[in-house]
Amino acid sequence: MSETADILVKFDSVQKSYDGETLVVKDFNLDVSKGEFVTMLGPSGSGKTTCLMMLAGFEPATHGEIYLDGVPINNVPPHKRGIGMVFQNYALFPHMTVAENLAFPLEVRGLGKSEIEDKVNKALDMVRLGGFGDRRPAQLSGGQQQRVAVSRALVFEPKLVLMDEPLGALDKNLREEMQYEIKHIHENLQVTMVYVTHDQSEALTMSDRIAVFDDGIVQQLAPPDELYEKPMNAFVAGFIGENNRLFGKVVSIDGKFCQVELEGGGGMVKALAVNIGGVGSRTTLSLRPERVTIGAAKGATENSLSATVQELIYLGDHIRSRVRLTGNSEFVVKVPNSHGHVHLKKGEVTQIGWEAEDCRALDA
Ligand code: ADP
Repeated sequence: MSETADILVKFDSVQKSYDGETLVVKDFNLDVSKGEFVTMLGPSGSGKTTCLMMLAGFEPATHGEIYLDGVPINNVPPHKRGIGMVFQNYALFPHMTVAENLAFPLEVRGLGKSEIEDKVNKALDMVRLGGFGDRRPAQLSGGQQQRVAVSRALVFEPKLVLMDEPLGALDKNLREEMQYEIKHIHENLQVTMVYVTHDQSEALTMSDRIAVFDDGIVQQLAPPDELYEKPMNAFVAGFIGENNRLFGKVVSIDGKFCQVELEGGGGMVKALAVNIGGVGSRTTLSLRPERVTIGAAKGATENSLSATVQELIYLGDHIRSRVRLTGNSEFVVKVPNSHGHVHLKKGEVTQIGWEAEDCRALDA
C-alpha cells in the first residue's frame, strides 16, 4: 500500500478567516493516518475548534483544501461526509429514549429494523450501557449521557470520529475514567479519531500524536513523549508538563551544544542548541524539574549552580523543592523519594545540577 492510501484526513495549506481580515487558522497542514488518534491541543481561541468544524463541514475553509480518503471535500455538505461527532453538550434528543437516539443515524441511512436493533445493542454494550436503552437522557447521569453520545457517534461505523472537548462538563474522576474508555474503544475499533481539548494531560493520555496550537499556528506535531522530552520552542515547553525557564544569551556554539550566559550574572550553562539564533542572540533554556539534581557536589553534573532553598513540599512519591538562583530566577526541582529523605532545609544554600543533554536552548 502506498503512503497516501494510509492517510484518511489531509489538511493542505488551510486558512480560515471569519471576518475577511484576521486569519484565526494561518497555514494548517496535517495528515491523519487511518486508525490514528490525533489531538489538537492548545489554549482557548487558538483555532482548534475552527479546524474541526472545517473538517466536519460546518465552516468553509477560506483557503486550501481538506481531503477525506483522498477526495477533496470542501464542497461536500456535512451529512454526506459520513463522519461521527461528539461535542461537550451531548446534543442527545431529549424526547427520544437512549435506543431511539442511537437508532436515529441508522434510520437516516435506511437500515432495516432488525439490523438497527442489533447495532444499537452492540453500541450500548460497548459503552457498558446495555439495559439502559429504554431510558430517556434526563434519567441518566452526565457521564452516562456522554457515553450515549459517544456510542451514537460510532453506531453507524464511521471511518472518522471527531470529538470536541467531549469530557469538558464532567468532574475530574469521571473525566479520567472516560479518557481510558474512549482510548480503549479507539483501540478496539481501530477507528480514526480527531480530538480537541485544552487539557494537556487528557491529550497525553489518549493520543498517538498531538498538534499543539497557538494563535492559529501548529507549534509542534509529535507523539506525547516527544512533545514532553523534545519541545521545539518555548511555547510547547511551557504548555506541556512542568518546565523551568532560564533566560540568557548565546556566547558560543559547538556542534549540537551551546554555551549560554544567564541574565543577571547567573553564570554559564551548557545546553543543547535546539532552536536558537547565532552567537549573541537571546534564548530561553528549558529544563524539566525531574532532570535536576539537588545537593550533589559541584562538578557531579556538566552544569551546576548555587541555589537557595525557598520551599520543600513532601508529596509522598517525590519531594518538590523551590529554589532561588543567583540573578533571582526561581526554579523547581523534583526529587524522587526512593532513597529515603532528602536532607535539605529551608534557607540552606546548596547546588543544583543537570546534564547539558537535558537542557534545551530554545527561542527567546
Ligand atoms: P479554540 O477551539 O482553540 O478555542 P476557536 O477555533 O474556537 O479556538 O476560535 C479561534 C478564533 O476564532 C477565536 O479568536 C474566536 O473568537 C474566533 N471564532 C470562532 N468561531 C467564530 C465565529 N463563528 N465567528 C467569528 N469568530 C469566531
